[in-house]
Amino acid sequence: MQYSFKLNLTNEQDTQKLASFLGQHIAQGVIYLIGDLGAGKTTLTRYWLQALGHTGAVKSPTYTLVEPYTIQKQDVFHFDLYRLNDPYELELMGIRDYLDTPNALFLFEWPSKGADEIPQADYVIQIEKMDDEDLRQVTLSFDSIDFQNALNQEYTAG
Ligand code: ADP
Ligand code: MG
Repeated sequence: MQYSFKLNLTNEQDTQKLASFLGQHIAQGVIYLIGDLGAGKTTLTRYWLQALGHTGAVKSPTYTLVEPYTIQKQDVFHFDLYRLNDPYELELMGIRDYLDTPNALFLFEWPSKGADEIPQADYVIQIEKMDDEDLRQVTLSFDSIDFQNALNQEYTAG
């Protein structure tokens, strides 16, 4: 991808703020959430859905593979492929029907487990846990110049 942007999230409040920013600037597309267990992929997703206006629970779809949402007419699919044994299981669970949904937002935890069964990412969000308990280093990778400009304005403008 063409651009990458690193930022430090000092605590969950920073993560929530980033989620709101993402909710405002990414309307649809495929997002990969990469990071170890406990990095904060589900936490970021939860704040993102809340930023879009979701008020109910956000369950981790570890066993169901996917949790679908419709939030203010926006379709969102939250995948967690951690427990996927074989990418072909995605065919069997009907992933194509999900992927055919127009204008939807697709969030993938553990995308590497989906191999060729899942589409290429528009945005990759890598979250790294640091020594300090609540600190996370995030690297965003993407191709959109508009998104790059928005990030600069939000995070680097004085
Ligand atoms: P993952 O989905 O990557 O396995 P989770 O989101 O389930 O991770 O868990 C992340 C844990 O780290 C949660 O208990 C959350 O409260 C905690 N946490 C602490 N600081 C942060 C932060 N800055 N951002 C996200 N989560 C944080
Ligand atoms: Mg998770």
